[in-house]
Amino acid sequence: MARYRDSSCKLCRRENLKLYLKGDRCYGDKCGFERHAYAPGQHGQRRGGKVSDYRVQLREKQKVKRIYGLLEKQFRGYYYRADRQKGVTGTNLLTLLESRLDNIVYRMGFAASRNQARQLVRHNHFTVNDKKVNIPSYLVRPGDEIAVKEKSKKAPQVVEAIETVVRRGIPDWIEVDKEKFKGTLKALPNREDLTMPIQEQLIVELYSK
Ligand code: SF4
Repeated sequence: MARYRDSSCKLCRRENLKLYLKGDRCYGDKCGFERHAYAPGQHGQRRGGKVSDYRVQLREKQKVKRIYGLLEKQFRGYYYRADRQKGVTGTNLLTLLESRLDNIVYRMGFAASRNQARQLVRHNHFTVNDKKVNIPSYLVRPGDEIAVKEKSKKAPQVVEAIETVVRRGIPDWIEVDKEKFKGTLKALPNREDLTMPIQEQLIVELYSK
């Protein structure tokens, strides 16, 4: 499957925001954004000038897409799905993105980043309700139990991620039993539970044109 292969730190610098794409490194002084807080490229240090509504909307969409590590086609698919659901489209969109198995694994602290979570899921390290699931986009439902497979409990990435998750914390809508290497999605998050600086309405405006 196609995926972004260039530097993750460039994405943070482009969005002018720490997107926490590289796990523990994002919290240390090696963070690329902390060291070069301007856009990448030859003209990256030139900020300012007139910014159109379209550009603001586009940047917001790019930011969210990058936080969850998705490509345009996948992201647009989530938008259309969110739009068909009852309720507020922007909130539906964020809820769908948060329900992805790779995101839940990351949120539970079994992976240091969403990117790593995606790889671990693909490599068969997890079960959902005792069944093998290796599809990162699998949508987890409230009550579902995610567990690290027995053979994977000693995987260095998993062990390290569990040790360092305290830095970012585990959200209230998720319950994790670190000793048993398992967790449950208690409920889907409400909008106020998602504290990342996202203005999802801008994305709705962009795709509604
Ligand atoms: Fe972004 Fe993390 Fe790189 Fe810092 S270290 S720029 S937060 S991906």
